[in-house]
Amino acid sequence: MSDETTADEPERNASVIVVGGGVAGLSAALFTAKNGLETTVFDTDETWMHKAHLFNYLGIGSAGGSEFMATARQQVDDFGADRRQGEEVTAVDESGDGFAVETSVASETQRADGDSAEQSSADRSSGQHPREEAVDEADTYEADYVVLATGANRDLAEDLGCAFTEDDVVDVGVEMETSVPGAYATGAMVRPEEWQAAIAVGDGAAAALNILSSERGEHYHDFDVPADAKRVFGELVAE
Ligand SMILES: Cc1cc2nc3c(=O)[nH]c(=O)nc-3n(C[C@H](O)[C@H](O)[C@H](O)COP(=O)(O)OP(=O)(O)OC[C@H]3O[C@@H](n4cnc5c(N)ncnc54)[C@H](O)[C@@H]3O)c2cc1C
Repeated sequence: MSDETTADEPERNASVIVVGGGVAGLSAALFTAKNGLETTVFDTDETWMHKAHLFNYLGIGSAGGSEFMATARQQVDDFGADRRQGEEVTAVDESGDGFAVETSVASETQRADGDSAEQSSADRSSGQHPREEAVDEADTYEADYVVLATGANRDLAEDLGCAFTEDDVVDVGVEMETSVPGAYATGAMVRPEEWQAAIAVGDGAAAALNILSSERGEHYHDFDVPADAKRVFGELVAE
């Protein structure tokens, strides 16, 4: 938790949408949710971490990538982020002072369009199930900030109008804010090749801290001390 030297809690909880729940996105979500911002994460679970085994993540001797992700997801959930697994973001647009995000999620299967009632009846009488196919359900969400963390896929950033570098990656500085104010880009999408989990985690944290600084009107940090452990985890923390 934040130490007592940081600014007071904001009067209003700003909202943050994180697109992509790999390491960059979950890192951003961890910091924003932990510090009281309303945080929603959309993820299609194609993180490269499922292919990785970490021997080069400082402080962790050896960890399977999927195992690492399971811990990260639990951590983000514990701090109150709304993690919407399996919900794909199909569009991000500026809306008012913030952003509108369209999503799509495969829902219950239903009878394929164009099937006639006769066909369905024939299927039943022949003992076959009526032909079915997955149907996508669309939804729209709004937030004050958006953090893009879609790995090496930069399509949403391009559609939003973010500037790109001459290397054809999303152009950001150390604060990870794109040329579109309030929109951040993190992880593999902001680098041509230097792709490492530790770097992506740092990107997400930098984006989140910049959002928190914007909300609080002064530079912000999220420092914890040993006394915070009991408050955060209560009886779960060993003496
Ligand atoms: C084979 C392999 C081995 C690796 N080994 C190591 C290693 O040993 N050490 C190391 O540090 N790094 C390793 N890496 C690199 C590491 O996995 C990446 O640097 C890291 O995963 C990048 O993080 P990211 O968050 O940018 O992207 P990702 O972790 O790939 O996450 C992006 C997430 O966004 C989701 N997404 C994309 N588009 C949408 C959308 N429209 N809506 C919703 N969700 C979306 C994806 O499903 C995915 O879950 C390895 C990579 C590979 C491929």
